[in-house]
Amino acid sequence: KSFEQFELIEPLLKALTVLGYESPTDVQSLVIPAIKNNRDVIIKSKTGSGKTAAFAIPVLNKIIWDKKEPQVLVLTPTRELATQVRDDIFNIGRFLRIKVEAVHGKSSFDNQAKQLKQRTHVVVATPGRLIDHILSKTIDLTAITHLVIDEADEMLKMGFIDQVKEVLTHVPMNIQMILLSATMPQDIVELSNLHMVNPQLIVA
Ligand code: AMP
Repeated sequence: KSFEQFELIEPLLKALTVLGYESPTDVQSLVIPAIKNNRDVIIKSKTGSGKTAAFAIPVLNKIIWDKKEPQVLVLTPTRELATQVRDDIFNIGRFLRIKVEAVHGKSSFDNQAKQLKQRTHVVVATPGRLIDHILSKTIDLTAITHLVIDEADEMLKMGFIDQVKEVLTHVPMNIQMILLSATMPQDIVELSNLHMVNPQLIVA
């Protein structure tokens, strides 16, 4: 088993080699083809399974690299996770001259706004600060084609679910949705029923 089987673009394969990812993890083997096939997916897996790369690899394989506006939005419950996911995505996209911005409450709003005006492919955000940018019109979500909700059950536990729902009203219709959650509480099931189209459930 190797990453060659997924027919990924060369700069991604090169990055995976540099990172020392020799073969896909179980969750990656299932998630990469599903996302490549444009399916909405629910990923039930734990930290350590390689879940971040599982969505990052196929999403970066699909976006249009010379577009100026963000095409991928990743929501995370905490600033620490936002930073970690930003770094992981950067490392996977490094040979594509990727620009990925982390947007969270612990760094300067004005500086984030300035960065978001530049060419940006991926935004990784906590819901509160993202909504501040939406309301201030300092982020353009019109070109978003992929929305990832990471650690959805943690979002719920931390009381961010209404903010997630609000973000969902500001992204285009018909985007590909990817939801990750270690558990599936009723509120998350309802959110997925409302916003996802025939999602493929991947447990790994
Ligand atoms: P995650 O579950 O996303 O937190 O990833 C756990 C760790 O596994 C991270 O340090 C990744 O860099 C690493 N990782 C992800 N995919 C692979 C892979 N295919 N081979 C080796 N390490 C990996």
